[in-house]
Amino acid sequence: MRLRGILEGFKPYEWESSTLDIAKKFGLDPDKILRFDTNTMPFHPERLLKILNQKLLNLRVNEYPEPSYLELREALAEYLGRSVDEITVTAGCDEALDILSKVFIDPKTKVLVSTPTYAMYRVVVEAMGGKIVNIQRKPDFSDDVEKIVEAVDDKTRIIFLCNPNNPTANPTSEETVLRLLKETDCAIVVDESYFEFYGKSFVNLIDKYENLIILRTFSKAFSLAGARVGYMVANRKTIDILNIMRPPNSLTVISLALAKIALENLEWVKENVKKVIEEREKLIEDLKKIDGVHVYPSVTNFLLVRFVKGDVNHIHRKLLEKGIITRNVGSHPMLENCLRITVRKREENMVLVENLERILSELGG
Ligand code: PMP
Repeated sequence: MRLRGILEGFKPYEWESSTLDIAKKFGLDPDKILRFDTNTMPFHPERLLKILNQKLLNLRVNEYPEPSYLELREALAEYLGRSVDEITVTAGCDEALDILSKVFIDPKTKVLVSTPTYAMYRVVVEAMGGKIVNIQRKPDFSDDVEKIVEAVDDKTRIIFLCNPNNPTANPTSEETVLRLLKETDCAIVVDESYFEFYGKSFVNLIDKYENLIILRTFSKAFSLAGARVGYMVANRKTIDILNIMRPPNSLTVISLALAKIALENLEWVKENVKKVIEEREKLIEDLKKIDGVHVYPSVTNFLLVRFVKGDVNHIHRKLLEKGIITRNVGSHPMLENCLRITVRKREENMVLVENLERILSELGG
């Protein structure tokens, strides 16, 4: 086989191990494993599935879905207060990233990311032969807009902004977005995957800026990570361009129906978001009480914590032995000795806190 040259030394996206692998490795019951690493909701969408169940027999799964996903776009248009022509639906936000790389990246062109940030931006860009330029965030994790502007040249195709940012949990300022929109002509992609926890969006700037593309997902606040539904919002001319590279049938009829049901049950979604935010604040308080733990502020459903005592690899491993999976981000620049922790239900968060207390106290001094 002759592979693409790009595959040589290519660094794929890295996950924590699967629930089954961890259970096997440490001799644990897979049903007892707690995942604090995926930034998903702790609430199973039973309510949405029950409604789906009533509709299931009428779903025409023998046929392909309607290729423009119009019904879901209509529901999204209402949710966003925008027009259907300004929305395109994707198989999760990750497929949106793939489409963007196919639309914008020629070999050797550049993409700027405000780092540390979501690793898939790098993966999709490098897969197309593009070059990632990492612009390090400021010590408070805000975007270094000055340095981003300086780094833009005629080879720059996209600037990725993650609002709020994964894994640092802080938002992007309006000043940053506006300055980049005004001073550059490349695509400004704002990933709003965690929008529902934060509440502030840049969607309405699409009226003025054709180069602004907003990404959203049903994987987080909507409890539908397993259904794989995301979408992009942009000026209609830009959406027409993005659709050139969008595959017509990557979503299932079942996922489309579920996402629509979720939008028809927004009160349930909002209630869950409220619960997670309340839990987040309690978890912050609990973690702050542990000697040796620094918790960063968060406007999302996850927390970035830094250990001022002990080694993150040791702590991460000790948690794994108890069936508690957290995201070890300690090898990334600026995130030395850090873990990313998803906010889950009270009783689950308490298990995490108790174990962290024990592990850190066993370290002594
Ligand atoms: N963007 C960010 C910032 C994310 O954190 C994630 C998931 N962890 C995604 C995109 C991918 O989301 P999806 O499940 O919709 O592909």
